[in-house]
Parts: sequence; structure tokens; C-alpha cells
Amino acid sequence: MSSTDKQTALVNQLQIDVPKEKVKAHLQVLGVFFLLLDTLAAISKPEDVETTVDEFFQRSTYRLQVWLAQVVNVDGEEDFKKKPLQDHELPPLDVALALHSFGAAFPPAEAHEGIDSGQHNPASQGYDELKSLAAAQYWQSSTQLKFDAIDSMSKDATRVIECPSCGAAGSVPWAGARGFTSPGFEYDCARCGLVVNHDLLCAGKFFEALARAKNDPGFCLPNTAILVRGELDVSRCASIVAAVRKCLQDDKGGIPPLKDLAESAANEGSSTMAFIANKLSRADALRAERNSAPAVRPKYAHTPRLADVVVALHHQRPFINNVYKQGWSAPQTAVPAGFR
Ligand SMILES: [Zn+2]
Repeated sequence: MSSTDKQTALVNQLQIDVPKEKVKAHLQVLGVFFLLLDTLAAISKPEDVETTVDEFFQRSTYRLQVWLAQVVNVDGEEDFKKKPLQDHELPPLDVALALHSFGAAFPPAEAHEGIDSGQHNPASQGYDELKSLAAAQYWQSSTQLKFDAIDSMSKDATRVIECPSCGAAGSVPWAGARGFTSPGFEYDCARCGLVVNHDLLCAGKFFEALARAKNDPGFCLPNTAILVRGELDVSRCASIVAAVRKCLQDDKGGIPPLKDLAESAANEGSSTMAFIANKLSRADALRAERNSAPAVRPKYAHTPRLADVVVALHHQRPFINNVYKQGWSAPQTAVPAGFR
């Protein structure tokens, strides 16, 4: 079979597997996403577009977490997969985009560790003005945030973070030299005095996963699901957790508190995550094997719960642009008022 024949066969198979209506709905959603990002660019100064888009994606990722916790109220991935969305639970468009990017951008191993967004693609739910209104009202009363993503950019000045050491919640600004989107972000926890930065939020996420793995033997540490010939091999998750714990144990056999680890790292002039990675790299049991993905990559995003959705959003952007520019995805109707 020539390569052209193979392509034709593939396209024919795709046409059988994916109904035309679904493809149309999907392209329409991509068109709406394009308009959203285009509106954002139009209201930014040309020299600020990239910074604004990055902040927008960081906010969308945060709003996705808020949506999961306060609107959909799901307890973990399994619940999310099972739960059919009610009309009033439909996400704002930026959250839908984050959810979509998450599903589209990650390979199975990473998607396996996060959430399966397939069932909650707005393309399959359908958006109309009535549903938008119900969703906007419910979102605003549940989260106290603006539903319209672009409106939220100018009006919602702060976000909530939890101290990775003591769990106290605090409110931090998005913008400014030490705002959450700044690389030099710093926040003093009012309860325990820890100076929280992105590195410590990453380490906190790693510690949380480690604690969960201790109580749930079936849980795989993020970035440790092993791919063998394209298949996930989760049978090794428990032994990897045991090896990771062994690397971090102190003399008494316990895992030192995050605060102590951060202090040891600082004494060595290292970030906490680099300190942890260095400890793990010394263990034979955690080395990458031939023909498999690396066993442990302690690279955590500074966003709680999910893999790095911000990166996924940045990956999706050129794809959406290209699809739109080919003329495939121009939406038939404008975005309903108040629903962006
Ligand atoms: Zn604290």
C-alpha cells in the first residue's frame, strides 16, 4: 500500500469512527475558543499580548480547579468521569478550554494521572443562551468570581492559595512583582510563617501525592506510571512509592516535614524540588529502564491537583489558530451574550 493509499484508508476509517456531527460540533467549539483568545489579544497592548495570554491561562487553570471543587463538587477522577453535567454546571468558556486542552494535549500516561475530560466537552453538551444564564448565575453565587473570563481578568484581582505546609488558606494578588503569575512570587503564610513560592507549591504537591499513596495502595505517584510498549503498567506503582519514601526517610524512618526539607535545601543553596530530585536520582530502583519512560520525574506544576494545564493551554493555542485560519472552524453564530 502506498502512503497516499494509507492516508485515504485512515481518513475513511476516521469517517466511520467519528460521526460528522461530532466533528462539526468540535470545530465549532475550537472556533469559539479562537474568538475568546482573539478578544483577549485585541484588548491587550501589542507588546503585552504574550504576558496577558500567559496570565489568562494561569487564571483559567485556577478557575478549572475552582469549578471542579465548588461547582461540580466532585471527589476525585472517578466521580468526575461518572457525573453527567447539569446545565447550571456548564463551565465558563476559559474553563472549558482548559478542560479541553488537558484532554487533548497530554499523552495517555499523563492524562491517566489527571482527569478524563472526554465526556465533558462542551461540544457534546451544547451551549445556548438559557443554559449560559443558569451557568453564569450558579458560578457567580458558588465562587464569587466573574463568569465571563475576560471580565474576570480585570475584576478578580486575587486568588486563594493553601500553604503547602500547614494548609492555611490565604489570598494573593495575581499581578505585581510578587503576584502569583510573577516568577518571583512570594507569600508569607500568616499561620506558620513559611515563605511560600512556586518551588514550595510544587514540593507541597509532591508531598500530598506521597501522603495519598501511603493510604491508597492503588495510587500512582504522578509522573511514575510506566509505559511498556504503549500500555500503562500500573503494577509497579506501589514499589516505586516505597522506593521514593526510602530515599526521603530520616534516621527515624519517617519523612521529614516539608518545612524541614525546604530548610535543608536552602542550606545547600538548592530549590526544594531540585533537592528532592537529587535524593531520588541516587536510588537504583528509580532509574529509568530501557524501553520504558523514566521511572520518576519529580517535576510538579505549581498548581494543585492537576498536571500542568497551563503548558497544555499554551500547546493548544497554535493548534486552535491553525484550525481557525484554515477556515474549518468559523462559528455559525456569535458567542451568546455574557458567555465568553
Ligand atoms: Zn503555613
